[in-house]
Amino acid sequence: MKFKILYIVGSLLLTTSFLTYAEPCCGTSGVCVQVLGSGGPEVADKRASSGYLVWQNGRARIMIDMGPGSMLRYEESGARIEDLEVVLLSHLHVDHSADLPALIKGSFFTDRTSDLPLYGPSGNTLIPGATAFVQTLFANPTGAYHYLSDYLTGEGAYRLQAHDVPVSGTAVQEVLASKDFNITAVAVHHGPLPALAWRIDIGGRAIVFSGDMNGDKDTLPTLAAGADLLVAHHAVPQEAKGVARKLHMPPSVIGEIAAEAKVKQLVLSHRMSRTLGREKASEIEIRKRYAGPLEFADDGQCFNVSEKDQTLKSLL
Ligand SMILES: [Zn+2]
Repeated sequence: MKFKILYIVGSLLLTTSFLTYAEPCCGTSGVCVQVLGSGGPEVADKRASSGYLVWQNGRARIMIDMGPGSMLRYEESGARIEDLEVVLLSHLHVDHSADLPALIKGSFFTDRTSDLPLYGPSGNTLIPGATAFVQTLFANPTGAYHYLSDYLTGEGAYRLQAHDVPVSGTAVQEVLASKDFNITAVAVHHGPLPALAWRIDIGGRAIVFSGDMNGDKDTLPTLAAGADLLVAHHAVPQEAKGVARKLHMPPSVIGEIAAEAKVKQLVLSHRMSRTLGREKASEIEIRKRYAGPLEFADDGQCFNVSEKDQTLKSLL
């Protein structure tokens, strides 16, 4: 009986804290994650492709991925291009990177003057690295949008500074440290594509983005250890096989990683027709391994990372 009461109280705590996480907080105060795009590359999912913002005290400081449609969601979010301090790309598939030109062109109409660093994986024979990708878009005279080349040369209002993050090893890499946040990355397995998972430590919280990956490198648990929020890409169902499974992790792998890393909250994004409408089945697989708060993301949704402990404290 005693255990039953404890179980019920525990369940209430989890449920209540989960509800608090989902309250809007982006654009106000604290550390918050906003989902700009919760979909994949297909049109049928009726969602923007991959994109996220990390807000702190009302400013959207860090952007992770910028797939098609994410800039529309960026506009809807009220984020200001002047506040953006760094762009992180998980990899350079279209559904994670195609809105970069829209951001740069959009910045022309703002007061932005500070340089904008961009980090993404190094390239291979299949795809350019982050630096070459930016050159391909904006370099004069070869870039497709070379009319924006001033943003590479420094002759514009600010400079877009691209950097490659190596994907050859499996160790966690220090990528960027500022007085307010620390950014680390680790290579993950996304078929033959160079790909990175990102961790942002900010305001005493840790937020991790898996990007697209299938789990084979077994690097994400280390990066995500103790994270307050893990955004995991849920592109395939449990029974996925072939190419889909070579590229993406099924729910069981997501659950294993979340449990091993002891993450405090799990958000599932990069939802596609393959997984939409099958949330219950995915949740069952994850729940066999991970018992913490879990939510399926939608475009525009905002997760308050900073209030979690306060909520738990007030309930205890
Ligand atoms: Zn993708």
